Amino acid sequence: MSTRKQYNRKKSYNHSENRVGFVKAKKSLGQNFLNDRVVVQDIVLCGEVEACDAVIEIGPGRGAMTGELASRAGLVIAVEIDKDLIPGLEELARLYGNIELIHGDILKLDVEKDIVDKYVRPRGLSKVKVIANLPYYITTPIIMKFLEDCPQLIDCMVIMVQKEVAQRMTAKPGGKDYGAMTVTVNYFTESSIEFIVPPHCFSPQPGVDSAVVKLKMRSEPPFETPDRDYFFKTVKAAFLQRRKTLANALANSPMTSVSVSDVTEALAEMGINVMARGETLSGEQFAELSGKLLRRK
Ligand code: SAM
Repeated sequence: MSTRKQYNRKKSYNHSENRVGFVKAKKSLGQNFLNDRVVVQDIVLCGEVEACDAVIEIGPGRGAMTGELASRAGLVIAVEIDKDLIPGLEELARLYGNIELIHGDILKLDVEKDIVDKYVRPRGLSKVKVIANLPYYITTPIIMKFLEDCPQLIDCMVIMVQKEVAQRMTAKPGGKDYGAMTVTVNYFTESSIEFIVPPHCFSPQPGVDSAVVKLKMRSEPPFETPDRDYFFKTVKAAFLQRRKTLANALANSPMTSVSVSDVTEALAEMGINVMARGETLSGEQFAELSGKLLRRK
């Protein structure tokens, strides 16, 4: 964790001043709106946003970050699912002139076709950054979508998530936080927790602390995978039954199609205890194991 800032309780952001105005928050859409201007500025600074950047903001909400992003970026593509927030955001877009508003579900969009081809490439912008205070009910699917579908299109992601999700993304092997998400995030990105944000910086307040995480996309994976698809299947199968030994977890999974003896032989070849659990293996060890299993399948 690079910094641990303290955000004081004095609210420095008032939504009645905001052009999007007051729309009642919907819990079902993960609406915890930022009410602290310092936090907003710190998130935008983390993204090192420049005029040559296109920023995808997932869930602009009442626009707490959108104007700040638009004043620095070449273009902001703001994707909001809630129709009640659209009129206010349209007004904000008219005011800035470099905000493209998409009324839709980020999980249903094709990032390349619906966003990059349509808005970014025609303007010749060089980098695409994802900067967002994410809706917590779909944090993992959103992160996985960007990492698995289009890592080559994105420069970095600066995202507010629940603190425990941030800890899972940046965990080291051996602990309870380490899992499939950690291995996947580390394969595609260099990750860091930038700062912790307490509940009073939002309205309504979430029940937990939040954290801003920066995921800088790697230009090359950190290690080779004999078959990327099978590597990710091995990782997912290992953590679906994380209390089991690796041999039992992988042998019981239709994703890997191997026997207990295939796994124990492969682990023995690698000098790893045959009773090991998935949480003790690094990403690189999973890659080696998946290669050995693939040859035995
Ligand atoms: N960016 C605003 C802020 O910081 O105050 C709002 C953040 S709020 C945590 C999450 C936002 O994501 C809400 O505006 C919500 O309506 C929107 N949202 C929820 N699900 C979404 C989805 N599937 N696609 C796009 N936006 C979504």
